[in-house]
Amino acid sequence: MERKNTTIINLLLIISLLLQACGLDKYVRREFTYTRSVDTHAKKIDFQSKKLYRAGHIFADNRFDGARLNDFTQINDSTYQVLITPENTPINPSPWYAFKIWSSRPDTIYLQLKYRYAKHRYWPKISQNRKDWTKIESFTYNADSTAVSFKLPVGKQALWIAGQPVINSADTKMWLDSLTSNPFVSPVRIIGKSLKNRSIYMLKIGQGDTKNKKIIVLLSRQHPPEVTGFLALKHFVNELVQNDTLTRTFYLKYEVWLFPLLNPDGVDLGHWRHNAHGIDLNRDWAHYRQPEIDAVTKFIVNEAKKYHVQPVLGIDFHSTFKDVYYIFDDSFHSVLPGFCEVWTAGIDRMVAPFKTLKSPYGMSQPISKNWFYKQFKAEAMTYEVGDDTPDDIIKLKARAAAVTMMDLLLKY
Ligand SMILES: [Zn+2]
Repeated sequence: MERKNTTIINLLLIISLLLQACGLDKYVRREFTYTRSVDTHAKKIDFQSKKLYRAGHIFADNRFDGARLNDFTQINDSTYQVLITPENTPINPSPWYAFKIWSSRPDTIYLQLKYRYAKHRYWPKISQNRKDWTKIESFTYNADSTAVSFKLPVGKQALWIAGQPVINSADTKMWLDSLTSNPFVSPVRIIGKSLKNRSIYMLKIGQGDTKNKKIIVLLSRQHPPEVTGFLALKHFVNELVQNDTLTRTFYLKYEVWLFPLLNPDGVDLGHWRHNAHGIDLNRDWAHYRQPEIDAVTKFIVNEAKKYHVQPVLGIDFHSTFKDVYYIFDDSFHSVLPGFCEVWTAGIDRMVAPFKTLKSPYGMSQPISKNWFYKQFKAEAMTYEVGDDTPDDIIKLKARAAAVTMMDLLLKY
């Protein structure tokens, strides 16, 4: 029995070495070990109760996708408190909030945003229609920054208050549908479902058959509040669907696979960071325990195998405190050696005098960027946008990134 097992193990070893030698192991999804591995088994989360809150003549409402408000109370004559808590802990400090507020009669109140397990992060924004948002002028912090307060005129017309513009899964689907009238854009596909049965969308940008193309993969919104990263993705894609000499030449050799919303449950449930299993999805790219990451990685590997194509570049859009590109250092030898170095220098030249920080980041964590390299030897970048980067700068940089990427890839 033991000898038989040894024979089987040896046979498997020989097959895997042969696959590796032929470069075919990229078509088998593998599991990876990391020095900073993360337990991504399901955890318990608190679902916020969706309801209309009333405190005297003031109403607050979280009954829409993307909302977060965990309690609403009056704390003195003119001050009302919105309590914001995370889906579970420990959690990255990205305290997301979004709610509607109105009054049965015109009034000016003080609104306090009170956070549990985090300090204030997102500058409050206000909207009358959930589409057009402006920053509130000013606010004050409490002593330990776990609360901020600001003056707010209220009336019968509801106002939306949120940490960033609210863009939920329905909004994302509408954007994707609007893209499909473009001749480079394929129909929207559903490549899997989230834990709570929301769709994971995908579409291809290119021309002709996938066969013989090299693949660029775009990802976004593993982390729900990271809206500025998603806005960068939108501007990036808008440049990719222009019909001009550059794009027409580009799509003779390349095809783009777009996955704009990897955490639809987190986005619609108004989570700070995690999916409905309480897991940071950008730590699950080693063992694929969460349905969202299982679906996207399976799809990419199987689709690459089906057309016998090579993903050469993966770009994952996020937000953090500043604009920064996380790339690989010189020690990694991808199928496009040194591409991200040259690319990001090209972006900087195009947007001068603006500049973006570049940070070579090690291979220590099970994040998407590292997966592209380990699975496909692809180049990869985490494209981080500052929480407060103005939209015209996001657009300037994202469009430059798209043009420079296409230009440079045609030379590789
Ligand atoms: Zn992120």
